[in-house]
Amino acid sequence: MKPHDAMFIDGGWRPAAGAEAIEVRNPADGQVIATVPAGTAQDVDDAVRAARAALPGWSATPPAERAARLAALRDRMAARIGEIAETVTAELGAPLTFSTRVHAGSPVAVAGSYAELAASYAFEEKLGTSTVLLEPVGVVGAITPWNYPLHQIVAKVAPALAAGCTVVLKPAENTPLVAQLFAECVAAAGIPAGVFNLVTGLGPVAGQALAEHDGVDLVSFTGSTAVGKKIGAIAGAAIKRVALELGGKSANVILPGADLARAVKTNVANVMANSGQTCSAWTRMLVHADRYDEAVARAAEAIAAYVPGDPTDETTRLGPLVSAAQRDRVRGYIERGVAEGARLVAGGPEAPEGREQGYYVRPTLFADVTPDMTIAQEEIFGPVLSVLRYEDEDDAVRIANGTVYGLAGGVWAADEETAVAFARRLETGQVDINGGKFNLLAPFGGYKQSGVGRELGPHGLAEYLQTKSLQF
Ligand code: NAD
Repeated sequence: MKPHDAMFIDGGWRPAAGAEAIEVRNPADGQVIATVPAGTAQDVDDAVRAARAALPGWSATPPAERAARLAALRDRMAARIGEIAETVTAELGAPLTFSTRVHAGSPVAVAGSYAELAASYAFEEKLGTSTVLLEPVGVVGAITPWNYPLHQIVAKVAPALAAGCTVVLKPAENTPLVAQLFAECVAAAGIPAGVFNLVTGLGPVAGQALAEHDGVDLVSFTGSTAVGKKIGAIAGAAIKRVALELGGKSANVILPGADLARAVKTNVANVMANSGQTCSAWTRMLVHADRYDEAVARAAEAIAAYVPGDPTDETTRLGPLVSAAQRDRVRGYIERGVAEGARLVAGGPEAPEGREQGYYVRPTLFADVTPDMTIAQEEIFGPVLSVLRYEDEDDAVRIANGTVYGLAGGVWAADEETAVAFARRLETGQVDINGGKFNLLAPFGGYKQSGVGRELGPHGLAEYLQTKSLQF
């Protein structure tokens, strides 16, 4: 796609109010591939006004018609799936095969799921002598990160539109191009002017202006816990609805009797996907002391298959990280792990051989990691897996629950019953049982500091609704 030197506001591309620009870099070589305008408070205000003006019409549009527009949006995105994948690979650095399947494929599926839900959802319910109307919350300010750039946009915009809300989106500064491509799809889908608006820009400028704007009724934020706390404070002070999808430090617990080979291989793949830049990644693998050495050996074998490479090469399984800042941050964590006494089994802080250009990090495996170590507590957001040892089930529960986060996790056992019994004890929003696959209809979101609210499926739609009770 050709980048726009403009904002998408009120159904058209219009010049930004200010002159500042953001450079978009290709993480594989650090070269600038595009510039987009850096929005100001003025652009945000224009966009929010457009969204407010469009709200009465869109919220009164019958759900079946909203569903038809969302189906058209899904079709426009599906028609451009190759271009979406190439764009995400260019600005994020994800391997093209992963971009095609996940970064492009999953948003198309999510848009489709909301086309169906808009048509079938019960926007009215009976409770005793009352009829409860489920009405749109209003104007949504959506602030998204770069790690699953289109998925995170669609996971907010599609349910908001299905609910009858209108939206202003501020995407991450590293990945604005796929957001512009999405805006083109919205326009082509016949979604009325002002229902969706896009303001590219810096977080502390455009993002903050959006979170603070009086015309925004709900702020939906995905990103770091540090910024999430600020957004939560702003929304709290203004008594605005807020949804926060934040960081994670998820545990994959392999119980005695589990299929160790499969559990370890799946865990390594889970952490290496997207170069470890996945909020729900199982970055802590918990293994019983009796099978610990075997698990570490299997993990070392599995990780060797992830050779950092050119993300446009279809055989590449591990691309670079998104930016020099993220690369340096992740390398810093690897150094910290070594300094605190973890055993480096594979990888390390140096640049991978032959990959000194670009933002590459070696796939890294740490053993003998104890729960108090920094690498076992903080989100690294890179291709780094820590293996921890536990003595019994209570110990495993304590370690798994022993961080401030609670986003995802895995449990592997000889049978489902044992795994489910263990999963009930975990303080986390999702648990995959014996390798259960990601489900785009299941509520996704965090316990504890991993967030507030849920995305995807009917639970994700409910976030954008408020209730009005009529008594008869
Ligand atoms: P980030 O918090 O720096 O940025 C996220 C978004 O917030 C960007 O659009 C950014 O411009 C904006 N922003 C930054 N400062 C802001 C401010 N002061 N006011 C308003 N907006 C501001 O995070 P990131 O580095 O882009 O993303 C990585 C983080 O996101 C990781 O911690 C990861 O775990 C988390 N994440 C969570 C989920 C989830 O669903 N729970 C999903 C993906 C990523």
